[in-house]
Amino acid sequence: MSLRPEIHFSSVFEHCSLNNNFQCFQGNPLNRLNLHRKSLQDIVQHSQSRFLPFRQFKVLFNQEKKQPVWLTYQFLFENTNEQKLTIDQCEFVLLGIGSRLLADRSSFVTTTEPTKIDSKLLSKFLLASEPTPDEYIYFALSIPNNSTDNLPGTYMELRPLLSQLSVIDAAVCGQGRALLDWHTSNQYCGKCGTSTISLEGGTRRKCTKCNHTIYPRTDPVIITLIIHADKEHVLLGRKPSFPPFVYTCLAGFIEPGESIPEACSREVWEESGIVVDTNETHYFDSQPWPFLGGQLMIGCYTYAIDETITLHDSELEDCRWFSRNEIADMIQRGRNISLDKNDQGLRIPPPIAIAHQLIYNWYSRKTNNFKT
Ligand SMILES: [Zn+2]
Repeated sequence: MSLRPEIHFSSVFEHCSLNNNFQCFQGNPLNRLNLHRKSLQDIVQHSQSRFLPFRQFKVLFNQEKKQPVWLTYQFLFENTNEQKLTIDQCEFVLLGIGSRLLADRSSFVTTTEPTKIDSKLLSKFLLASEPTPDEYIYFALSIPNNSTDNLPGTYMELRPLLSQLSVIDAAVCGQGRALLDWHTSNQYCGKCGTSTISLEGGTRRKCTKCNHTIYPRTDPVIITLIIHADKEHVLLGRKPSFPPFVYTCLAGFIEPGESIPEACSREVWEESGIVVDTNETHYFDSQPWPFLGGQLMIGCYTYAIDETITLHDSELEDCRWFSRNEIADMIQRGRNISLDKNDQGLRIPPPIAIAHQLIYNWYSRKTNNFKT
């Protein structure tokens, strides 16, 4: 993804509702400093470093200001009267360098308008090894479960918190959560079973015995809206685990040796019995999804060539073709955050899900031609 230097403080819910080509967790404004990670130990204690604490993957959040809580190294590790944390107890990962506004908004009025950084900064972003006076170096920090912690704020699950987050907060918290989750799951070498250590700001881990190196991974998942040959219906399904009345696009992991169209074709047939044309798989957009170990949702449109529904693998409890009129109602309910709890109408997921954007984009276009 190209660098996005703008700082976007509008609500991620609102922004996704207004921009059907923007996905929640996109728009991360930080320069990830790929060329300068080796000097990490020197910059952890830098006066311009800021840390976002997580505990059990819950993010520290200020409910009054509706912002994640960024703390200094000194506050976290040198305030011995209040805190008993040491840096060695914590897993920390470098997120990148970016505007101070991400952490310091006291002098900044939050509006729905994006605030542009001087565009000249873009070239500097690519080369920076030191933050300018306008910037901070941002880290995510995992606080160990067994430590004392009186940090200011409340630890909250990221997913339900999204309705309160801005575009950039969602993206940066998502980056931190996904990286910390990867570290937790890779404490031991997959080849020899010895413990591993984090290197270069948490962008890789190395076995302390056999030197095997592992890198943070993201699992590719296809998610597809299947369009009927009559161009007026689309296929949506629901799993037993979904919230009541929610139907969505079919999705599944890409297996080793599969291309994106092949994965769409297999997954759709397994779950619904529908046969799709593998020559007509059209990429829509992708969404980093920092849950369940870290995934990349790859959104596609596919076209059915056999529309008979058979639930081969029983993963879905129901799967149906929906008309444009039905979809219109389902979109409305998916967007209505104050929907009556007794409303039993069918709905699609909210706009922060790429499934919503796939469906809305199909519905709102007059043509079914998604070729790019
Ligand atoms: Zn090893």
